[in-house]
Amino acid sequence: MAKRDYYEILGINRSASNEEIKKAYRKLAMQYHPDRNEGDKVAEEKFKEAAEAYEILSHDDKRNTYDRFGHEGVRGSGFGTEGFSSVNDIFSHFSDIFGGSSIFDDFFGGQTRGRSGRRTGGNPGSDLRVTLKLTLEEIATGVTKKIKIKKQVKCADCNGSGAEAGTSLKTCTVCNGSGEVRNVSRSVFGQFVNITTCSNCSGEGKTIDSPCKKCYGDGRYNDETALKIDVPAGVEEGNYMTVRGEGNAGKRSGPNGDIIVVFQEIKHRFFIRNGDDIVYDLFVSFPQAALGNEVEVPTLTGKAMLKIDAGTQPGKILRMRGKGIRHLQSSGSGDQLVRVNVTVPKKLNAKEKELLNQLSKLPNISYLPNEEQKSFFSKFGL
Ligand SMILES: [Zn+2]
Ligand SMILES: [Zn+2]
Repeated sequence: MAKRDYYEILGINRSASNEEIKKAYRKLAMQYHPDRNEGDKVAEEKFKEAAEAYEILSHDDKRNTYDRFGHEGVRGSGFGTEGFSSVNDIFSHFSDIFGGSSIFDDFFGGQTRGRSGRRTGGNPGSDLRVTLKLTLEEIATGVTKKIKIKKQVKCADCNGSGAEAGTSLKTCTVCNGSGEVRNVSRSVFGQFVNITTCSNCSGEGKTIDSPCKKCYGDGRYNDETALKIDVPAGVEEGNYMTVRGEGNAGKRSGPNGDIIVVFQEIKHRFFIRNGDDIVYDLFVSFPQAALGNEVEVPTLTGKAMLKIDAGTQPGKILRMRGKGIRHLQSSGSGDQLVRVNVTVPKKLNAKEKELLNQLSKLPNISYLPNEEQKSFFSKFGL
């Protein structure tokens, strides 16, 4: 598919400033964000397209190359010809533009978290991203996974306050607890009020006289924890799940970050996923295909019987209803599609050769072209 012009995608002209590029991208990213357009493939494509355009145009060197050589010039630059493999790639690459550690909350008004200034209490903890590998069997029915996570946890000694037990936090004497400092300057143009984050308390509004010895006043320390994750059936590679409040603990009792669990699908040796359907290659012998048979076939949830009709041709797809992956968004399951392959023996003993020779002379066994094929072949004098 031909790629659209990056400027056109972002709706800007070729002389747009970096600020205009950023603004245009932010607008599109918000409009087409997957969380706002659940299950909308068109929106997802637009989201990815905009991210790719932004990735190129926001870097001066890549933009120059693109201006001179077009898409060919930036092929393989950043995200390659396929663009982003998943929306999560976009999140991880563009956390800057989304303004901080937790883009999900910033964007969509989850928990309200202070960003800077006008906030008292500790800084929020950062989000963690973990990848969870799943087999198709696990995806087919859903699974509960327990994972170990190294993260910052709330300090038990000081209960996250950062102050040594028995002591307490003090209201910052510089900002009087507001977390911000106002500087008034005068010039010929008038009076300017400049509000900055208080440097004495880092905007927290409180200071510590005797820091906790365990966490050195941070209110948290590194530890390993276990987390149970209920993976619903039907997830796909690149899907993610946000587990609220399970990320890094906030500094000095600030709110916890989230854990973003990104699902990865382990390639199956015998089953091919096609949406919620499963494609399976079945191999049968020529007599089985010719005579018909009932065979046992493996499925993601165990074995099942499958009827092969007499005269089944190679390549025929047999549908086993409901034997695929359970749908994520609706009830029911996909199907297992069994592709019939007829095997040809590679080695034959004397007796087998003799029998096959005899068989091959019989009218229904030897290959006979049909009328249509005959008239086609006759053009070649065959
Ligand atoms: Zn502590
Ligand atoms: Zn202060």
